[in-house]
This record gives sequence, structure tokens and C-alpha cells, in this order.
Amino acid sequence: MSDDGRESGIGNRESLERLREAQGWPRCSTGPLIQESREGTGDRRISSCELEGRTSTTVAASSPPLPNPSPTRGEGLEGDTSDAYPGITASPLHAAAAMTTARAADSSPLSPRGRGAGGEGANAAEASPPLYPLFLNLAGRPILVVGGGEVAARKVLPLIECGAEVRVGAPALNEALQKLKAEGRISHLEGEFQPHWLDEVFLAIAATDEVEVNRAVAEEGAARRLWVNVVDDTELTRVQVPAVVRRGPLTVAISSGGAAPVLARQLREKIEQSVDESFGQLAELLRILRGRIRARFPHVPSRRKFMETLWPGEVGELLRAARFDAARARLIELIEAGEPEGSREGFVSLVGAGPGDPGLLTLKGQRRLQEADVILHDRLVSRAVLELARRDAQFIEVAKEAGTHHTTQEGIHALLLEHARQGKRVVRLKGGDPFIFGRGGEELEHLRAHGIAYEVVPGITAALACAAHAGIPLTHRDHAQSVRFVTAHCRNSIDALDWRALAQEKQTLAVYMGVSGLDTLRERLMAHGRRGSTPAALIENGSRAEQRVIHCDLDSLPETAKREAVKSPALLILGEVAALGRTLAWFGADAAGAEPAQLPSRRLPLSLDMRA
Ligand code: SAH
Repeated sequence: MSDDGRESGIGNRESLERLREAQGWPRCSTGPLIQESREGTGDRRISSCELEGRTSTTVAASSPPLPNPSPTRGEGLEGDTSDAYPGITASPLHAAAAMTTARAADSSPLSPRGRGAGGEGANAAEASPPLYPLFLNLAGRPILVVGGGEVAARKVLPLIECGAEVRVGAPALNEALQKLKAEGRISHLEGEFQPHWLDEVFLAIAATDEVEVNRAVAEEGAARRLWVNVVDDTELTRVQVPAVVRRGPLTVAISSGGAAPVLARQLREKIEQSVDESFGQLAELLRILRGRIRARFPHVPSRRKFMETLWPGEVGELLRAARFDAARARLIELIEAGEPEGSREGFVSLVGAGPGDPGLLTLKGQRRLQEADVILHDRLVSRAVLELARRDAQFIEVAKEAGTHHTTQEGIHALLLEHARQGKRVVRLKGGDPFIFGRGGEELEHLRAHGIAYEVVPGITAALACAAHAGIPLTHRDHAQSVRFVTAHCRNSIDALDWRALAQEKQTLAVYMGVSGLDTLRERLMAHGRRGSTPAALIENGSRAEQRVIHCDLDSLPETAKREAVKSPALLILGEVAALGRTLAWFGADAAGAEPAQLPSRRLPLSLDMRA
């Protein structure tokens, strides 16, 4: 395990820089460049400039020559910070993502059940509390780095870039540090570590290869209530430097708390790839035009609505087409035009949240969650999906588990109407798909009757998700030509079903909310001719980490469900195809017990004469 070092990495930004150069955009778009100094290598420059009264420091690859397009990828180990650290650090906009895998392991639903290999020893490592992410404005602050070697030098550069006043304490400095000293960008505290070096600084970094010295810095620092980062020592360090992705003034910082640096790096690479540069460019434009926007949209809600139209809209599109000047011009036009039309009208998006795994939410659904002012969600909607929503949206849980106290359907209708009429963007978020046993139809009828505009964003319904994650194809050329989605949760719905049709062979039944009515289900289906040996699978918590799949047949179904204490949410898949899950299982703890597939025996590629 390592601390910050292995996660440190500053995003690869050469292409943005190239684009900037090509477009002739200023790196700091307003205000004069007040200082620029070139390093000896000539392929990097550090500049400071005035930005609306703030000082920023940028280190950027200059062009030409263009450096290695991916200097930060490599093995992603320490030291990848120094070659590409562009971006404006005294920034109004930041984003942080922190990942604490140790904690995730602790609360893993696998461990308490102890099912499968994942359950054992999952709690062996002690979980620490999550890290608190911060972004520091170091401009002008004295910071101490103890150590004069390569590791220390790597820590020093980003600090200088962030405007810190860096003091390096060590008996001797390596070449890179000596150069920085000669350029007047660091000061040197010569000699062995002295506790009084810590007296004036705001932050200290221990970057020597002597554990005792690092420990002394950590302890003396702690005695002074200082934050101390100890490189490569998760025990001693209290501050961890995250992996970073920058898009203009936007910063994404990622940490695994030292638990999984490689994973943190992979996440950073994923973000690098998926967050295109228009984000940073738009943030830059908004920073430049901030004053004008505030003047035109003095009220926060209207300003927020205006801002939210930009990235998905025309301005974002122009930026994605690398037309920065046109984007700026269009943005200015939009600001002058005032409030976007129709922004006062309420709107309801009926969104299917899928079965729980956020990866199964549609992109459109996710977008709606990020735009929402109010989210009315069912209890079944998973936390992981809710976490994709805008943080400051209002969350209202409107339905509780069947059988317990819950908001009435009329109550939900009233809430939808109330919020939509206030001009808000309302997301009505339902588990699975809103039109499958979700009463979505009734809600739309109500909205239509009251003249509220709406849309429907479908979701992956439980039957599809459960079947997929249990390895059960719902139809199969040999075993099932049709599939029916059925619900049988109360007497009325049970009596209303066409049992003769349901009992047909070679069809699949996906039974929602069926756990409590399994006795009746077996009795009716068998009375109408379905064989007791028909394969059945009960899928509890389908598609979630804690998924459980229980195979049996129709005859033993009620007893099996009772014996296994199957809990909601659970879905029953009944029909010949259910048996296929025994061999095709691939997901969750139960997959480990899947029967080995019957592979055709391999032929030897050579024909050998085996006679004696
Ligand atoms: N609209 C939802 C269904 C709502 S009814 C959809 O399209 O999926 C609620 C029932 O759905 C539950 O009682 C259960 O039978 C089923 N269900 C929902 N999520 C499930 C899950 N993750 N695993 C198993 N069954 C689930």
C-alpha cells in the first residue's frame, strides 16, 4: 500500500493545450500575463496571471514541441505529477470524488451472510472512516517539504504550481531542487530536520527515505496540530494527495484512502476518457462571464436553470466542435436574451430506475436525475441510483414496503401536482420500469387531467434484470416461445388471472411480488395441468451484490421459499428455461456453485501413434 504517491497523477491535458494553441485561446483569458519564466528544458512553462483579481499559476506543456501525449499514464506510480500539471488552480469550481474501499468492504452485503468465498474474511482488514475531501488554496502559504531527493522534488512542483511558498528542509538538495532554488522558487532550510521548521507552515510533507525522520515530522507536526503528509506511509500520514483529473478550472480528485491505489488510478483514467474537454472550456467561459451572468440572473434558481441548459445545449455543442469563439459569442447572446423561455413551467419525468445496479439506469434517466429539483422515489429505488442525482435536489420517499405504512397513491398524485405547479422539474423515480406493475399509468392520467407536461423514461424491469443476472434466458428456441409478466400479490389479482393460459407448457412466467402467494400459485397451476416438476427459480435482490438465486421445481416451491426465508424484493421465474440458470449462472455468490458446462471434448491437434 502506498499513500498519495501511487495515486498521484495529474490528468493528461496536452490535447486541450494543443486545442488552446490552435484556437489561440489565452490560457488565462482576462488580464495581463504578469510573469513567465521558462525552464531550462524548454518544454514546460510556468506562468502566473491575474484573473479577475485572483492569481493563478499554470504549468503547461508548450507547443511545439509536444511532449509524450500520455506522460501520466505509464505505470501511474509516483512522479507522474510533474510532466503535465496544467489547469488553473485558483479556481472557483471544483469537483471531488472520494472512494473508500475499506469501508465498502466492511459494509458489503456479502460478508454478513458469509455466502461463497466473498463472505469469508471480508472484514479482516479494519475499516477506517471515510476521508474528508478538501481543496486547498495554497497561494502565498508557507509549506514545508522535508527531504532533498527525487520524491521530495516531485512533491514540490505541484505545490509551487498552486502558488505555495515552498521551503525544502534537507542536508542537501538534488539537481532539480537546486535549480528551483537558484530560480528563487523555493527556499532551502539546510541541515537535518528541525522541529522549529514546522512553526510557521500550514502543511508539511515528509518525503525522506528515512522512516525515523518521517516519523519525527509526523509527530512534531501532530503536536502542532499541523496536517502532515508522509509519502508512502499510510500509517503515519494524515493527509493523502489524490489522483487528479483537470478540465480547465474543474478538478476531480480521487482517493482510495490508500486501500486500492491501482483502482483509483483506473477510475481516474476512466474519468479522463469520459469527461470531454468541453466541460473545462465551459467552466472557463462561465468564470470569465460570471459577472455578466450574475447581473442578468440575480436569482439563484433562474441562474441555475440557465447554467444547466448550457453544457447539454448549443454552447456545449459548439465547444465539443472545438469552436470556442462561436461558443463564447453564443453564450453572450443567451445571457443578453435573459431567462430561457419556458423555464417557469413545471415538468414531470417518470423515470425507471432499473433493479438497483446504477449501471442499469439509462443515460437519459441519469440526466434527468441530475436536472431534477425534486425527486419522488419509491423505497425500492437503490441508494446507489439515488446517489447519481443532483446533490441539492429535494428527495421525497413516497412509498414504503408493501404491507407497511405508505404514502397513498392519491398522496403521490398530490405531491406531483404540488411540485410541478411550483415550476419545478420533478422526477418520479420508480424501481424497474414505471409501466410494469408500477402504477405509472395512473400517475400520467392524473398529470394529463391537470395539464402538467410529462415524459416517460423507461427502465430495466425486474424480470429482465433478474433473468439476466441469474443466467436464465426468458425465451429459448427449445424451451419457451413466450414470456408473461404476472403479478399475484393479493386475492383479487390471483382470482383475476387466466390460470389455464398461465399453465401452458413451454412458456415462461415472471411473477412479481409473488413470494407470499406461492401456495395458491402452485395449486392453481397444477390444477390447470402444469407439471410439478416444472423448473422454478426464486431471485432475491436480483442484480444487486447480495443477489440470491434459489432453484427448485413448482411442486416444492412454497416449501423452498419458506425454508430459504426468501425476502422481498424477489421475483419468481417459472418454466422450462429456469433450469438453464443452473449451468448458465455467472453473477453473484451463487454463480460459484453453477454446474460445469458440458464442453465438447477437445481433439488432439496431432495424431499420434500410441501403439507400443
Ligand atoms: N416496476 C417494477 C416492479 C414493481 S413491483 C419493475 O419494473 O421492476 C415490485 C416487485 O418487483 C417486487 O415485489 C419484486 O417482485 C420485483 N422486484 C423489483 N426489484 C427486484 C429485484 N432487484 N430483485 C427481485 N425482484 C425485484
